[in-house]
Amino acid sequence: MATTDQDKRVALVTGASRGIGKAVAMRLAADGRHVVLVSRTEGPLSEVKALIEEAGGSASCKAADIGDGAAWQSAVEEVISDEGRLDILVNNAGITRDNLMLRMSDDEWQSVIDVNLRAAFIACRTAARSMMRGKFGRIVNIGSTSGVIGNSGQANYAAAKAGLIGMTKSIARELGGKGITANVIAPGFIQTDMTSNLPESVVETVRKSTACSRLGTVDDIAAAVSYVSSDGAGYLTGQTICVDGGLTMC
Ligand code: NDP
Repeated sequence: MATTDQDKRVALVTGASRGIGKAVAMRLAADGRHVVLVSRTEGPLSEVKALIEEAGGSASCKAADIGDGAAWQSAVEEVISDEGRLDILVNNAGITRDNLMLRMSDDEWQSVIDVNLRAAFIACRTAARSMMRGKFGRIVNIGSTSGVIGNSGQANYAAAKAGLIGMTKSIARELGGKGITANVIAPGFIQTDMTSNLPESVVETVRKSTACSRLGTVDDIAAAVSYVSSDGAGYLTGQTICVDGGLTMC
């Protein structure tokens, strides 16, 4: 049976202007979703939208700073009102402000918590109402192996990513009976802007510690998000899936 535009599931992807978020957005569009692309800057989002449309998919853009809690909540509400529904939420946007714990400022701590954890909570809380109305939802929070095993210099980032895991399990328990799943995809080291400044010695150490002997690609993560956000993944919830080439195996 042909799918009409009305049947199309709507996915919102934060941090869709580049890196993992861009690959996830393009993959979900290829899966037949209408994708709402979010980041702070309109220009790069429009370029991703054009790429999706060239490939035969559909997308729209929403410029928003997810670190501004009240503005972010309004932006998600506007998306739901404009699109009439929200079925898939991918909280992907994230930042790092690395420093050793003894030197970490309150601002370095709080900005990472606000963007990486609080923004995901606000989006989940806002999206859940729409998902409950549709009796279907897929929440995918992009964590990190740092949130599972910790990482020196990343007390703020690891706390935010570990927080995502606890939050996701709680949401999964609260909403599982309503057709809504919530999972964390925790990438290992993936080649993006975020990791482009790592010294070659660190990259080599990561490669040696990774069973697959390579850094991951953005498409490795997009493939996992595609599955957990699919209609067929309705019995998978509350999980943290480390897509890390066998770096942690936990
Ligand atoms: P990038 O730095 O390449 O991209 C980050 C994205 O987030 C951009 O689209 C950026 O857009 C957006 N963003 C950042 N701050 C905000 C904000 N305040 N409001 C709205 N959008 C924002 O990151 P990656 O693709 O590497 O990482 C994506 C996710 O994967 C993150 O959550 C990260 O923690 C996680 N991750 C990445 C790993 C890696 O090795 N790369 C490893 C483990 C986890 P703009 O600047 O235009 O707003």
